[in-house]
Amino acid sequence: MARNRRVLLLPGDGIGPEVVGQARRVLEGLGTGFEIEEGQVGGASIDAHGTPLTDATLARAKAADAVLLGAVGGPKWDKLDFANKPERGLLRLRKELDLFANLRPAICFAALVEASTLKPEVVGGLDIMIVRELTGGVYFGQPRGIETLANGERRGVNTQVYTTSEIRRVAAVAFELARKRGRKVCSADKANVMESGVLWREEVQKLHDETYGDVELGHMYADNCAMQLVRDPKQFDVIVTDNLFGDILSDEAGMLTGSLGMLPSASLGAADASGFRRALYEPVHGSAPDIAGREIANPIAAILSLAMMLRYSLDMAAAADHLESAVRRVLDGGARTADIMGPGKVQVSTARMGDLVMGELTKQAA
Ligand code: NAD
Repeated sequence: MARNRRVLLLPGDGIGPEVVGQARRVLEGLGTGFEIEEGQVGGASIDAHGTPLTDATLARAKAADAVLLGAVGGPKWDKLDFANKPERGLLRLRKELDLFANLRPAICFAALVEASTLKPEVVGGLDIMIVRELTGGVYFGQPRGIETLANGERRGVNTQVYTTSEIRRVAAVAFELARKRGRKVCSADKANVMESGVLWREEVQKLHDETYGDVELGHMYADNCAMQLVRDPKQFDVIVTDNLFGDILSDEAGMLTGSLGMLPSASLGAADASGFRRALYEPVHGSAPDIAGREIANPIAAILSLAMMLRYSLDMAAAADHLESAVRRVLDGGARTADIMGPGKVQVSTARMGDLVMGELTKQAA
């Protein structure tokens, strides 16, 4: 008999518990075969244990098949020093699980095409995936710091640094994804002005030529990529890029679709000998303290993050497809949480949106 899959839910702060609560209902609705656990992270963990991530919770995350996180942070913990803030819990989780590949899909649902600031013909049917390197580059490179020079001036330093293996492992994730999608990868760098960019470009090309000749590979300077994303985003299938450029380009791509409440993400680690990868799934949005506790948050980003978990960690691609199409049909039917509300649509609460998605899933199963 197949063993149960262990899923750890870390709802976190603000609207985190509200939206993860709906994702949990959907997961439970998928039937048996899951061992669902819950833990604390961020401000919730600070309040309970005095630290944003306990060693015990980290150990549970390491032992799980996959982790679904809500969001962390909020005004209550804003005055804590940097090392003790809720966000440190999330950063530690990403670092300890060695989650080096961040996947951010940008999909424009037909029913929400009007929510984008771009013209419907530019974004309608958009389905792209940004793969951002998450554990290297300028956010981690040494030396770093702020120093005072002999003349009294201050100098801030960060170092952009990548090794061959760091580039190859994230590029491999992008090529593998492309094989299951449109077989097209665009690698974005600044090889025109940065040596680390020259290395990035050479290594991505080399890996392609060695192993992924069946995937079309193009290279683009990251600034041009930023322009192309708003000019003609549908030219892309998978974009792979480093930590810094990926931070910016993935936010830009996400916003093409119009709403923060709709954007899921996945962060993946290296595959072991059996093919298993550690993975953390989370909505892109934060804890939204301005609407927390009002039952109006959009749970779709969390539910679509669960769909990514089914696809990438639990080997349940068909269930992921069903879940994504259930969400699409709910939107086609006109239900909207407040953040995506439009003329002639029906405004629903967080829980009601969960009900409707579950209802569509049940209809498909019948
Ligand atoms: P935010 O994403 O929490 O909110 C930005 C705006 O979008 C708010 O007006 C909010 O109401 C709205 N919004 C966000 N998610 C929504 C949803 N699901 N449904 C409806 N509306 C939604 O960003 P912020 O306001 O800059 O940050 C708030 C807190 O969240 C801060 O403490 C920040 O550090 C933290 N944060 C955490 C994460 C994370 O956990 N990954 C990410 C970003 C921000």
